[in-house]
Amino acid sequence: MSLFDPTTLSELRAVLAALRQGSPVVLDVPEDVRCQLLQRYVDVSQRNAGLSLLSFGLVLFVAADAAPWWPRVLAFAVMFAIAIARHALVRRWRSSAQAQAPRFDRRHDLLVILAMGLWNSAPFALEGRIPASNLAVVVYAAQLSLTVLAVSHVAAQPASLLASLFSMVALVTFHLHQGTLMSAMMALSTVTLTFALQSRMSDNHRTLLKALAADRQNALLVKELERLRQQLETENRLLGLSLRDASQAASRDALTGLFNRRHLLAQAPAMAELVATRHAQVVVCMIDIDHFKSVNDGYGHAVGDAVLRQLARGMTERLRDGDCVARLGGEEFVALLRGCDLHAGRRLADLLRESVAATRMETEAGDLPITVSIGVAQWAPGEALADVLGRADLALYQAKHKGRNRVEAAEPALATPGRG
Ligand code: GH3
Ligand code: MG
Ligand code: MG
Repeated sequence: MSLFDPTTLSELRAVLAALRQGSPVVLDVPEDVRCQLLQRYVDVSQRNAGLSLLSFGLVLFVAADAAPWWPRVLAFAVMFAIAIARHALVRRWRSSAQAQAPRFDRRHDLLVILAMGLWNSAPFALEGRIPASNLAVVVYAAQLSLTVLAVSHVAAQPASLLASLFSMVALVTFHLHQGTLMSAMMALSTVTLTFALQSRMSDNHRTLLKALAADRQNALLVKELERLRQQLETENRLLGLSLRDASQAASRDALTGLFNRRHLLAQAPAMAELVATRHAQVVVCMIDIDHFKSVNDGYGHAVGDAVLRQLARGMTERLRDGDCVARLGGEEFVALLRGCDLHAGRRLADLLRESVAATRMETEAGDLPITVSIGVAQWAPGEALADVLGRADLALYQAKHKGRNRVEAAEPALATPGRG
């Protein structure tokens, strides 16, 4: 079996199993499990970011004790508001049904950039207003807080990278402005920390996104295979149907829908075997419409066809379930009556003849009376179908000869072994 060319359902299943084994990610991760993983990831980073924002707010409030109280309260309130707004955005995303990948909308990114801008302006605003040591604490706390905020969530990565860059420039500018060795060291340490955390988070971010993309790819693969499987099933079903149609067409007569000569001959060996070995009793009837040529000549071929169709339907209805009726050709039919001897077969054939004579064939030329002549013969053990048909045909000839619309029985066969 080729992996890419499955022709049966079991082969298709094997392909699926092979793909499952070779898959880099476990297939069919339930949606809720995937969401839970992402949500836990988001929760941790969300808590870190919130705590760092609020702790910076507190540091600012305390370290700037020389400044008037209202700008400090205002700064803390702004920080608090940003933390709450970001929290609300994350929560909304967290509970949304599309929580497939850690991506937020632009508002979140703008919020992060705004926060960073405000943080970076704090040291400049406080310069000269509070003691230098307090200012150093504010600067360091701001940088730590910014770093944690910037890297705290993978979704904010483009914005956080931008903001980190911006804050680093601001930090370096500030320390250059201060011009001390201490401030230069602080600048260096925060820049290093930011880079370290950023690169670490970028790796995590990339890994997570890769895993999610692979998982989505797998889900698509499963869907595609399922679609293929359904298609294969439909095609198999259609193929089965057309095979059935084809075999039916090969064994049925197109005009009447009865079995045809070909089918009769194909069944003959099995039937002969039944007669020979199981002593099954079968009576063969040759049925021929009387003066059918005059129907065709008088009313046309289409009317003749209608008569043939109705006669076929009538015979099928009147014969028993186990009996078989076939159209040999033209207006000649053969019926195989099972489970009856010649006497019973002749009686059945006579009933059939009577019912045909009593039924008017409805045609476009009006209701036509039709009669049939029937020759019956008992299928003898070891006798071939052609022989028993020959004897039934002789009996039919006699029925015609004796005036038609009658049934004649053939003489019993001489016991001659033959083939069906
Ligand atoms: P008899 O009573 O001796 O059987 O006379 P008959 O006219 O039935 O016999 P004959 O064999 O002379 O004519 C058979 C006619 O059956 C000839 C042909 O036109 C007609 N026939 C054969 N096949 C078809 C068919 O498929 N459709 C129609 N409409 N007529 C057919
Ligand atoms: Mg005829
Ligand atoms: Mg005939």
